[in-house]
Amino acid sequence: MNTNGTVLIVDDEPVGRKTLKALLFTEGYDLAFAANGPEALALAAELNPDVILLDVMMPGMDGFEVCRRLRAMPDQAEVPIIMVTALDDRAARLEAIEAGADDFITKPFDRVELRARVQAVIRLNRYRKLLQERTRRREAEEEARRQENELLLLQEVKRLQDEFISNASHELRTPLATITLISGNLDALYDKLDDDRRHKMIQDIRKQARALNQLIDGVLDISRLDQGRISGERHSLDLAGLVLEEIERQRPLAEEKSHRLMVAVNGPLPVWGDAGQLRQIVRNLLNNAIKYTPAEGRISCQSRIFADNLAADPTWPGSDQLPEGSWVGLRVVDNGVGIAPEQLTRLFERFYRVQPQSVIPGTGLGLAIAKELTELHRGRIAVVSQPGSGTTFAIYLPVADA
Ligand code: ADP
Repeated sequence: MNTNGTVLIVDDEPVGRKTLKALLFTEGYDLAFAANGPEALALAAELNPDVILLDVMMPGMDGFEVCRRLRAMPDQAEVPIIMVTALDDRAARLEAIEAGADDFITKPFDRVELRARVQAVIRLNRYRKLLQERTRRREAEEEARRQENELLLLQEVKRLQDEFISNASHELRTPLATITLISGNLDALYDKLDDDRRHKMIQDIRKQARALNQLIDGVLDISRLDQGRISGERHSLDLAGLVLEEIERQRPLAEEKSHRLMVAVNGPLPVWGDAGQLRQIVRNLLNNAIKYTPAEGRISCQSRIFADNLAADPTWPGSDQLPEGSWVGLRVVDNGVGIAPEQLTRLFERFYRVQPQSVIPGTGLGLAIAKELTELHRGRIAVVSQPGSGTTFAIYLPVADA
């Protein structure tokens, strides 16, 4: 077995085969011979040669046909083929190119030229095979990596789902336990309690029931988001209209706490999205500002368009991180209790509350939902806060083209 490669010589004439053998056998190749087309095809399939020297003129299946058939075989489609033609046979050369040959040599052979061509074609073929092998290996590695990532992602999704279910049932049990306890006491002690006491207990039960209701709404929203069912109906909308409507809905709550509500939302703020979902984002942010600001606070809501060439504004959190493009910005600013820096990073986690046992009712889901809905609209949400001085939440949505 020689190591310089395998050369398949195809020629119907014994003299032709013998000449080529004489010219090549000192070069360290493994030589194989076929005397006709069908034999050549069978040997090529069996030996996988590094080059085929193919005579054009053969009875039955001629060299062009053999060449075409080789090119049609998946394993041989790229095997180097050198056609052997008669001197100056221009028509044969053209046909050989069309049939898929890589090179020609002419009879009678020039010994140096023949050896050089065979060597060059074999070397090129080696590089090609090496490259193919490398590409194949890289593709296999990439595929393995992709599958591994997919598996990790699936495991993470499963873990998050389990965590969500366990958190949700824990959170649901708390108000339920209180309702069970108070209603049990009410039942057992009914005759011993005065009207005021009974009234207070019923109010407590109603409060817990409301909390339960809110939680179930939140849990359903989140699980619908997870399952991709909140894809909503997308329309071209003016965010300003939605925000102003939502502010009017929340105004009574703000007035109950004697907050000053300042609004500077100027349309049009063209966005692309689902009105209900966008309203929910705004509602959650406004509602938090009202809830987490002590009575007689100041709450403001402002809008602004961030165009490509507009510099980031430090009073708009996250505006320095916006990708290129035009963005509708909406900001809710309060002068409430604020949030400590170490808690800011966890704020958008599901069920996260800065003070879990706070007297202020809440589920810890509002910001998680706001963030996920904002991202569903290809938007961003950001926050800055100073404990004791107040908090600013900002959302940015891509400006919808007219
Ligand atoms: P919750 O139902 O508890 O309000 P959110 O997900 O809306 O849940 O908010 C998570 C936590 O972030 C809240 O419990 C609160 O501690 C804090 N928070 C949210 N908004 C504000 C704000 N405007 N000012 C101060 N703290 C806030």
